Amino acid sequence: MTLKQKTFTAFLVMLLLPIVLTAGAAVLGMRFEVMRFKQEYDVDVTALEVINSPAVVLSRMTQTAFSELSNAAAFDPSKFTDVIWLDEADEVLNNKFSYLVVIKGEVPTYIGQRGTEFASISERVIMSSSTGETTTSNAAVLFNDRKVIIKFGAIYFSDGVRGSFVIVSDLGPMLSASRGRLIFTFAAGGLIVLIVTVVLMMWVYKSLLRPVLALRNATRELGKGDLNYRLERKEKDEIGEICANFEEMRRHLKTQIDAKEQYELDVREMVSNVSHDLKTPLTAIKGYAEGMLDGVADTEEKRAKYLKTIAVKANDMTTLVEELSYFSKLDTNKMPYKFEIIDANGYFSDCVDEYAIELEMKDFEIHFVSEIEPGTLVSIDTEQIRRVMNNLVGNAVKYRNNDIHGIMNVRLTDANDSVRVSVSDNGIGISKTALPHIFDRFYRADKSRTAGRAGTGIGLAIVKKIVEEHGGRVFARSELGSGTTISFTVKKGAK
Ligand code: ADP
Repeated sequence: MTLKQKTFTAFLVMLLLPIVLTAGAAVLGMRFEVMRFKQEYDVDVTALEVINSPAVVLSRMTQTAFSELSNAAAFDPSKFTDVIWLDEADEVLNNKFSYLVVIKGEVPTYIGQRGTEFASISERVIMSSSTGETTTSNAAVLFNDRKVIIKFGAIYFSDGVRGSFVIVSDLGPMLSASRGRLIFTFAAGGLIVLIVTVVLMMWVYKSLLRPVLALRNATRELGKGDLNYRLERKEKDEIGEICANFEEMRRHLKTQIDAKEQYELDVREMVSNVSHDLKTPLTAIKGYAEGMLDGVADTEEKRAKYLKTIAVKANDMTTLVEELSYFSKLDTNKMPYKFEIIDANGYFSDCVDEYAIELEMKDFEIHFVSEIEPGTLVSIDTEQIRRVMNNLVGNAVKYRNNDIHGIMNVRLTDANDSVRVSVSDNGIGISKTALPHIFDRFYRADKSRTAGRAGTGIGLAIVKKIVEEHGGRVFARSELGSGTTISFTVKKGAK
């Protein structure tokens, strides 16, 4: 979940959950109240009435008692002079916050137990009854000063005197109970809001804080230079993304620094190789030159031999230095390319013909095999590709197996939108461990085996660079002791 979604969810939950929970608590509370009224007061009420109309509820609570009293008034008014019967009826009403008052003429003949608590009301009840203010039976009247409900019922005593019985119900406890319920509901609601808010804030806080702390540690370690400290977070939110980006940056930095260190190592090794490779021909040149000066080469034939050796060694040095300066130009992208569309068979077979003459003198055969359509065109910089070929053919000769006759094949095959050029030899081959590195700059495989074969380790790096600038790829296949095939592709072209 993203942080945005989390915040929105938290907001929604914070808004809705307390409402739902509070409403749930209120509904449960009300149900409980409805059941309690049924059990304690034997009265059917709805939850809404419990909240809204305590007066109605209270009135309904005394309804049965009122009916019984009305019955007695109608059929046996003498009961209203029987104190024991009246006490029993009052007792029933007492449990329902009510009491009974009986009035004969204008005189109260019976005032129930709780009547003393409501002396002032009793008086007013008597007054209302006597002045005929309330003649309707079963009426509920609310006095303003005391919250009570009164119900009147008419009695016609056997001696002909008119009177009434009154049920006075105290609304106070009902009101305070509903006030209590309201306070409870608010308190429960408040508590729920508090709990929900705390839980949600902790949720958001944790999902923010944990990854932030991990990120802080990681940045601290990186600041100290520890590039191996991994930051692995599984969060799918924005902070998780920052952590993933940070980890990506660390990996990138590490790769770059490792590559830089490796480069420095390679350069150091190359400098030592190059100085060695330069020292060998220089020593030879110096020796032969001194030999000539000292008069050791005393015949014309000897002098010619010495001079030829000096020229060959100087040539080796020139090649070496040229290769180095060429690579530095390539590496800094200072080499301009001039692409031409030419016939692949014509170009590569010409190359092979030229090498053939040179290689014959070195007891080396070279063959050209074409498996592509005659007239296939390729887009190449002829000079640069010649350099690629020089390097590959040169390596095949350099790493030849001295015990057998050297054979080399240059083969052209079709590779969809490209032409693949493969140079195979039957030389010493390359070990499996060295093979993946031969295109790395300054890399020289199996130094013991290639000892005595001058090289800088940049020939194949040059090949790779030029081929890639042509939009092609290089591959190598080799078996130790059997030979090597180096292939590269060049894009086909159309005139
Ligand atoms: P070098 O100047 O050492 O020849 P290269 O980049 O041309 O540098 O080649 C890298 C390494 O690959 C060489 O040192 C050699 O060990 C190996 N190699 C390249 N071509 C061949 C080949 N045809 N046969 C055997 N080994 C080869």
